[in-house]
Amino acid sequence: MNSSILATYRSSKLSFSRGKGSYLITKNGKKYLDFASGIAVNSLGHCNPDLVKVLNKQAKKLWHLSNAFKITEQEELAKKLVKLSFADKVFFCNSGAESIEAAIKIARAYHQIKRKKNKFKIITIKGSFHGRTLAAISASGQKKLVEGFKPLLEGFFQVNFGDHKSFEKAIDSKTAAIMVEPILGEGGVKVIPNVCLEGLRKLCDKKKILLIFDEVQCGIGRTGKFFSYQWSKIKPDILSTAKGIGGGFPIGACLVSNKVAEGMKFGSHGSTFGGNPLACSVANKVVEIISKKTFLDDLNKKSIFFINELEKIKNNYTNLISEIRGSGFMIGIKSKISNSIFIEKFVNNGLLVIGASENVIRILPPLNVTKKDLNIALKKIEKTCGEINNKL
Ligand SMILES: *Cc1c(COP(=O)(O)O)cnc(C)c1O
Repeated sequence: MNSSILATYRSSKLSFSRGKGSYLITKNGKKYLDFASGIAVNSLGHCNPDLVKVLNKQAKKLWHLSNAFKITEQEELAKKLVKLSFADKVFFCNSGAESIEAAIKIARAYHQIKRKKNKFKIITIKGSFHGRTLAAISASGQKKLVEGFKPLLEGFFQVNFGDHKSFEKAIDSKTAAIMVEPILGEGGVKVIPNVCLEGLRKLCDKKKILLIFDEVQCGIGRTGKFFSYQWSKIKPDILSTAKGIGGGFPIGACLVSNKVAEGMKFGSHGSTFGGNPLACSVANKVVEIISKKTFLDDLNKKSIFFINELEKIKNNYTNLISEIRGSGFMIGIKSKISNSIFIEKFVNNGLLVIGASENVIRILPPLNVTKKDLNIALKKIEKTCGEINNKL
């Protein structure tokens, strides 16, 4: 059938009418185990009863309020995020790309307004993904993202993953910041080692530039710490997050230190919908649940078990899988055959996962997934490998 949707997405025949916990269910009642989680968004599964409850409660009280007024749910969420991180201030928006836009503007304003220096350049990693706005695609620089949309925004420069020397070389008197995903998501679930994050921090301090972390995908418990950078000894100056924080309700946030926040003044940035009562009441519940030590301890136990089992499957099928990557429940299977063939076979066996660059299959279970469902997924993964292997 001819679709009225702009052709920016691959058309899929698969559609769902319901979701429950780790499962998506079709109109005909067929169940799929959802380990894509709306790309790391449904962090507490589908229709989580606690979230449904707060959403319904808030829906009867107040949906939207302009930021011209004090939004108590937003104040509460900001307090929580500040307590859980390096940050002193938070700006709320509606998506990952917007949280990146905010980060870029805040970094520039810190230099241009607070320090009265004409610095604007931002150094990023080749193959990274920061969203689809013009600034975000300019930051990434990836050919497949920028083609057809030139001219790009000025002032972005990409260096190779793992090439610390190139970062240093790329910094000049106009450089404002370095921006990286602590774990490249779309880029192939590539983890930046802690020593490298620490090296970037040192470099930024030495050059008096800012360090921005894009935790849109890897933040909010995804890797087993509330923020992924918390596995390392260092802190960023600015952090963008979004995907998992609303558990499916659209909301993004940009977190900043007091030092950096001083570049932003009344009227210098804003959002109509950003941080509205509906989004913030849901996000407050998500953050309350995920930030609990018991929740994260349990997540880490489950993810270590799951990754160990995946390693065993890899060892049985070294002809199909070359590597298991990632941290917590942000996992990549590096495939030796086409990842899209692998993904299609997983879907046929009732397991939803998604692709990433470098022929990687991304596995992003809900963070509250049960051990039982992890075992079901492992059986499906093993079965799929067996089926592909028999046909080779
Ligand atoms: C998804 C993603 C974005 C963009 O988020 P949107 O909500 O799609 O705008 C930015 N950075 C990273 C690391 C992402 O994974």
